[in-house]
Amino acid sequence: MFGLKKWRRNRWMKRPFPDDWESILYQNVPYVQHLPAKMQTKLKGLITVFLKEKTYEGCAGLELTDEIRVTIAAQACILMLGVDDLSYFYDELRSILVYPESYVVKIKNRHDSFFVQEGFQKRHGEAWSHGNVVLAWDEVKKGASDIHDGQNLVFHEFAHQLDYEYGATNQVEDQYEDSQFLSWARVVGNEYKKLLTALHKNQQTLIDSYGATNLAEFFAVITECFFEKPRQLKNEHPALYEQLKEFYKQDPASYIKS
Ligand SMILES: [Zn+2]
Repeated sequence: MFGLKKWRRNRWMKRPFPDDWESILYQNVPYVQHLPAKMQTKLKGLITVFLKEKTYEGCAGLELTDEIRVTIAAQACILMLGVDDLSYFYDELRSILVYPESYVVKIKNRHDSFFVQEGFQKRHGEAWSHGNVVLAWDEVKKGASDIHDGQNLVFHEFAHQLDYEYGATNQVEDQYEDSQFLSWARVVGNEYKKLLTALHKNQQTLIDSYGATNLAEFFAVITECFFEKPRQLKNEHPALYEQLKEFYKQDPASYIKS
């Protein structure tokens, strides 16, 4: 039925937030303490919706607990705090796979059409384009514990998920003619090129150098910076800050002091 999802989500938003979830939230995700009171209440509602709807899977023998579920949900939901209409809420997310710690994957590097090199790579997390987010639990906790270092695995991987759902970086690549998207495409595209140039000249950058990998990584990295180093980002990259403020409909520079 049309609108049923939104109706159901709005009901879950009003559910009382259990005490044990509350302790986990404030202990593991110190970011929450810096949010204005109204946003903290909204976050708890969003976490309830997230935990009602989204599927988690423990990998490599990891037993899922409320601590794991709430800590991940809280950070994924911080990205969504600006959203008013809950008819859409990580709808393409199929499953969150959680490993106890960084995991090793077998990779294939294709050098040309004949020679394929196989190797292994250690990963903290990843987001697949068909809606699976993979996270290492130890890295989730590490990312949440320091809210000012600009490194947060859950923000990073869920930014990829949002990019996949909303096509944020596709719009940069395609330079859509729509005027609203055009300024997004122009600013994000220019800032990406500025990062590449700065790194080429061996300059220090506020935006982590991993963002130079490609546009999708750039978007994930600037998301981490926007939420954890908002004041520096606003000072050094005001146009980019404005675009992210518009995208996330949040203004963390007004409450996250760093
Ligand atoms: Zn990434």
